[in-house]
Amino acid sequence: MKIIPHGAAQEVTGSCHEIRLNSGVRILLDCGLFQGHRKLAVAKNAEFPFDPKDINAVVLSHAHADHVGRIPLLYKQGYRGAVHCTYATKDLADVMLQDSGYIHEKDEEYFCKHLPDSMLPCGGPLYTQQDAIDCMEIFQGQNYGDWFNVCDGVKAQFLDSGHIVGAAMMVLEIIEDGTLHRIGFSGDLGRNMLPIIRNPSDMPPVETLICESTYGNRKHEDIQTAKHQLQKVIVDTAKRGGKVVIPAFSLERTQEIVYDLHVLWDAKEIPAVPIVIDSPLASRVTDVFMKHPECYDKDMYEKFLAKAHNPFQFSLVRYTESVDESKELNNTPGPMIIMAGSGMCEAGRIRHHLKNLIEDSRNTVVAVGYMAENTLGRSIIDKEITEVTIFQKTYEKKAETVYINAYSGHADMADLDSFICKVEGLQKLILVHGELVQMQPLADRLKNVCKAEIYMPEREEEIEV
Ligand SMILES: [Zn+2]
Ligand SMILES: [Zn+2]
Repeated sequence: MKIIPHGAAQEVTGSCHEIRLNSGVRILLDCGLFQGHRKLAVAKNAEFPFDPKDINAVVLSHAHADHVGRIPLLYKQGYRGAVHCTYATKDLADVMLQDSGYIHEKDEEYFCKHLPDSMLPCGGPLYTQQDAIDCMEIFQGQNYGDWFNVCDGVKAQFLDSGHIVGAAMMVLEIIEDGTLHRIGFSGDLGRNMLPIIRNPSDMPPVETLICESTYGNRKHEDIQTAKHQLQKVIVDTAKRGGKVVIPAFSLERTQEIVYDLHVLWDAKEIPAVPIVIDSPLASRVTDVFMKHPECYDKDMYEKFLAKAHNPFQFSLVRYTESVDESKELNNTPGPMIIMAGSGMCEAGRIRHHLKNLIEDSRNTVVAVGYMAENTLGRSIIDKEITEVTIFQKTYEKKAETVYINAYSGHADMADLDSFICKVEGLQKLILVHGELVQMQPLADRLKNVCKAEIYMPEREEEIEV
């Protein structure tokens, strides 16, 4: 059989790897969206390098857009096989894909209004909110740990990947020409000790492993430091009567921060400051989290569930829905904590809050996630930059800015080394979901300690296994 990466090959987004059996059976692991530079991404997302009708099954690692974001397009173009994923991933995908469809529609409206026909990126939105609703009929939920049939001669099992709620690594057992072959796929590998979810499992023995390498050459700070940094920022800003503004990713990071704030409040380590989650998408995701206690770790159980205590709801927290409620926050004096999307400040309500708050030195903007180049979020955390442009107007950066990077949901270099080295019987290691600057040093380190052949394929490169 062959393994062919159709995305996340020497890059981070667009996760999609095909297993093509000699019998002609074709299985996709993930079917994600390419993100980043808009024009390039639009072109890469529009076309699949295969006919979706020829694919027999999809097995999905988790609900982040770069892993699930092209399923509605696959469905729209005729794919009618199953999409296997954990139950939590299924419910999260429903929320995230509808939001994504809505954004594709709005983007399209904007392009049609502001660009001449000749410059329009493609004919119509990539997919609509309705397409996202329609494609959910092919999703099939699975329990962690259960073996399920993918197609004739192929079964699979999901294990904890410790990345976000519902996220899984997977093992596939494939019988080809009478021989059993085991293939592992890490999905996005998480870290030990992240709030809410369990730690990543070890990968069982496999001959071939497809493994992410996002931070193949970076060491993360300890996750415990994140909570302490957050606590210090809140105490300091509250003393000045200022507001803490947190641009937050709606899926997982927002819930992790609310969880940590709840723990800090229960321990009386933060003052009684109102906390406003100003993101309807984050509220919907939080509702899904509450439906899936099967994903939680021991701390979550002992501190909250065992006491029938909702981790995401406590006396200081309020979730807003309407735009009027959001605008009203401008007229409410600090101290206050406001969390709003989008994470990199490229869209959503966060930009309205930033334009109102960034010129007041009592306030603090706290970045808690990765800020890509050329985004407003990156300009805010870059200490060299003193002015930012929001809605075509320039603002002086007078608010304090703090970057807490210890919340990362990805394994770092030490985590990746130990995860891969522990895999018994490994013969072929295929590194994906990382840029070469991160992947190459990982491969160089592993060459000395791991006997497997190491591949760093480009898109569409075929690897015989
Ligand atoms: Zn992810
Ligand atoms: Zn990813």
